[in-house]
Amino acid sequence: MRLLLCLLLAAAAAEARPAPPLVRVYSLYKLREVTLEPSGGAAYAAGKTFSGRLRARALASSLLLEGSRGRKELRTFTASGGVWLSGKGIPRRLYIGALRFSARRGLLTIVNTPPLEEYIAGVVSMEVSDLTQFEAYKAQAVAARTYTLKHTHNHSGEGYQLCDSAHCQVYAGAAAVRPLARAAAEATRGEILLYHGRPAETYYHSVCGGRTADISSVWPVPAKPYLVSVKDGPSEKPYCSIAPDFRWKTKIYFTGLTRLAREAGWIVSDEDATGLRITAWSPDGRAQRLQLRTQRRVVSISAADFYHGIGRGAGWRAVRSTWFHIIEGKDFVFLDGRGSGHGVGMCQWGAEGMARLGFKYRDILRHYYPGTTIGQD
Ligand SMILES: [Zn+2]
Ligand SMILES: [Zn+2]
Repeated sequence: MRLLLCLLLAAAAAEARPAPPLVRVYSLYKLREVTLEPSGGAAYAAGKTFSGRLRARALASSLLLEGSRGRKELRTFTASGGVWLSGKGIPRRLYIGALRFSARRGLLTIVNTPPLEEYIAGVVSMEVSDLTQFEAYKAQAVAARTYTLKHTHNHSGEGYQLCDSAHCQVYAGAAAVRPLARAAAEATRGEILLYHGRPAETYYHSVCGGRTADISSVWPVPAKPYLVSVKDGPSEKPYCSIAPDFRWKTKIYFTGLTRLAREAGWIVSDEDATGLRITAWSPDGRAQRLQLRTQRRVVSISAADFYHGIGRGAGWRAVRSTWFHIIEGKDFVFLDGRGSGHGVGMCQWGAEGMARLGFKYRDILRHYYPGTTIGQD
């Protein structure tokens, strides 16, 4: 009996090893109130079971929890047991694992702690929803799991580890999990990418455009031997050439550019954009610095700032990457570009292309993160 108990405890310890991440959900929304509903017959909230609906509302720095059995003011509370969240202006989502509610300046903060593999299945579902190949899903699961372990400090000091937007990794709860993503998380359970025995930085992006980017040419950070620029397959038919965003074109009128440049703080309110050109390229062919002209001066902007500034002001479809060249017209600029996203690390559509050609997820990861190996967390 004793031996059995010991074995059971050992099994429980091994099972419990990967720490569930603390993920802030609805991080892009300003939430004042949400409705909670159990996904099964009942769930738990603030130490009690509930079967109907509950409403959580943020006060200045506390919460009001209301249900059919009355209302209670709390500083914070936890719900668990599979809970649907919904509310005005937010998508209805199901969360497995604990949900911790708190309030700050009249707004709700909700932090979910899903089991790690549940979270990975959720992230993979959102990050590669256009892809079809199981081996690409598996590569994405290993990259997302490794990213999760390496980025638990993304929001340190804010009371959680990761947010649920593209800033960290996109995550929309358990009901958004696709069967292929669930199977990919399961098939690669616990596997992470290592470089010299340590977890690697597994950045990934949608479409590289034919060649990935060296991390140090995109962000002001030291080079990494496995985040170098790699040619994404044969020049005549790169692996990601099957992607809808492989090539893109955008026309920006100077009137629009003026508005965006003022919003981004590149120029002041009485200046107008009168021209834009690239002044420096990275060795892998992406734009690195741009020069924005106005009536009285030229402003130098990094291509990464330009990409983020235009994205925030005009949406991420306008300028999809920093791999483009510029054709200047009389009152507009024409951007002829390739790929989508920052270009660092794994190209998701390239992974799809490789998988369609018969490559396995280990080949895919080795291709985008050269010199790395797969190990157990
Ligand atoms: Zn984040
Ligand atoms: Zn690619």
